Amino acid sequence: MHRDLLNISYSEETISACVRGLGQRLAAEYADKNPIFLGILKGSFVFMSDLIRACDFPLEVRFLTASSYGSSTVTSGNVSVSGAPGTEIAGRHVIIVEDILDTGTTLAKIRDMLSAQNPASLKICAFLDKAECRRADISADYVGFTCPAAFFVGYGLDYAERYRNLPYVGVLKPEVYE
Ligand code: 5GP
Ligand code: MG
Repeated sequence: MHRDLLNISYSEETISACVRGLGQRLAAEYADKNPIFLGILKGSFVFMSDLIRACDFPLEVRFLTASSYGSSTVTSGNVSVSGAPGTEIAGRHVIIVEDILDTGTTLAKIRDMLSAQNPASLKICAFLDKAECRRADISADYVGFTCPAAFFVGYGLDYAERYRNLPYVGVLKPEVYE
């Protein structure tokens, strides 16, 4: 385990079993729909790469960039979005792929922006769901793990751009960011 972590919350093996399960659930819904998996960068890129390989059906991948955190561990509430797909998602089945749903501010903004483009359907697949921290009126349709209100890193999740490469998820020691 990395020495900046308090624990390993989700091991590589646990994550891999979970993502395989998500792939099977998605197949039941999307196997004949050629959906667009729309990842929110940067955090979702590791989850996305495992998730699509757990999905044995035709699909497309796109990304957009959202930033709300900077180098803090508390959401700023200011969300900026870039690289959003335009009319190309009209009539398509879209699954937003997110690393972690926290207050929901980021995804609520992205969801409203995408809904305006008239996709055939729009669902959310979040690797982690900090359900008790929700402030916006939003929930994920597919959830890897429901997690407590801690600050997690690893498996794409960063603190100040570090730790994304850890193959597991853990809670960062408070002294690292205090
Ligand atoms: P929200 O808008 O839902 O409050 O924040 C969502 C974004 O905040 C996530 O996409 C992620 O980038 C960041 N975030 C929220 N909680 C955590 C966490 O525990 N660890 C890390 N590394 N990022 C988080
Ligand atoms: Mg993010």
